[in-house]
Amino acid sequence: MRAVPKQKAMSLSSEFHPLRHLLRRENRLRLALSAALFFVVLLLVTPRMPHSPSLHLFADMRTLLAGVPNTLNVLTTYPLLLFGVPGLVLCLFGGWFGISLRGEAVAWAFYFAGNAVAGFGSAYYHLKPDDDRIVWDRLPMMISSFSLLSLLVIERVNERLGLSCLFSFLTLALVSIACERVFDDVRLCMLLHLIPCIAIPTMVYLLPPKYTFSRFWFLATGFYLLARFEGIADKKVYNANGYFISGHSLEHLCLSMVSFILTLMLSFRSIRIARDS
Ligand SMILES: [Zn+2]
Repeated sequence: MRAVPKQKAMSLSSEFHPLRHLLRRENRLRLALSAALFFVVLLLVTPRMPHSPSLHLFADMRTLLAGVPNTLNVLTTYPLLLFGVPGLVLCLFGGWFGISLRGEAVAWAFYFAGNAVAGFGSAYYHLKPDDDRIVWDRLPMMISSFSLLSLLVIERVNERLGLSCLFSFLTLALVSIACERVFDDVRLCMLLHLIPCIAIPTMVYLLPPKYTFSRFWFLATGFYLLARFEGIADKKVYNANGYFISGHSLEHLCLSMVSFILTLMLSFRSIRIARDS
């Protein structure tokens, strides 16, 4: 970890912010319990969702290179590996990144490791998309998403709370995979995919940043949401660009852009707000 210079030390308690009272210690538990309760109720009222074979039918299933089925969906996972591996190495062994807490280093390591494994795992899945291989695509992607969410909690709220979020969500991700395979129910998995899409932009927009270059978080969040939209609108995006590249392939590329943007941010940033953890 690099020793980050304090350019502008301000305490969170000395500045006005509409969410300030929510960040007080006594309200954090209430907020976390309310969010967990809402999630459990949503899970219970959602009907059981069995696995559908159409899950593995992507818009672009062309073989453009000899011997490589679903060529573009396979090749577009490579940039995840390209940015994930150097990010992980720099995070673990370098003093190059602007990281000031051990909890941040742990969460960034999970994020980059998730991307690096997704680079391999997603390519493996797209070579022959089926129920057995999807875990190699889904699990590392979930690890990356929940690491990003937890990083924002560590940086902008509290280190211990953020680490609790990280390990709780990683456990839930494993439970969701087990539910999918054992009970043929993807409900938990689908709901877990929704959480980062709501929580990440909300925290980026509402919580005051601890570091400089926070606009990179806005840019990364934009690409993250764009990726999720492209994944959902796989066929529509493919039709819209004249069958050149599908929404799912673009989703891979946009997630790689998130990794690239956040790597740049980590290289440039320094502490803006001193905050107790
Ligand atoms: Zn994919």
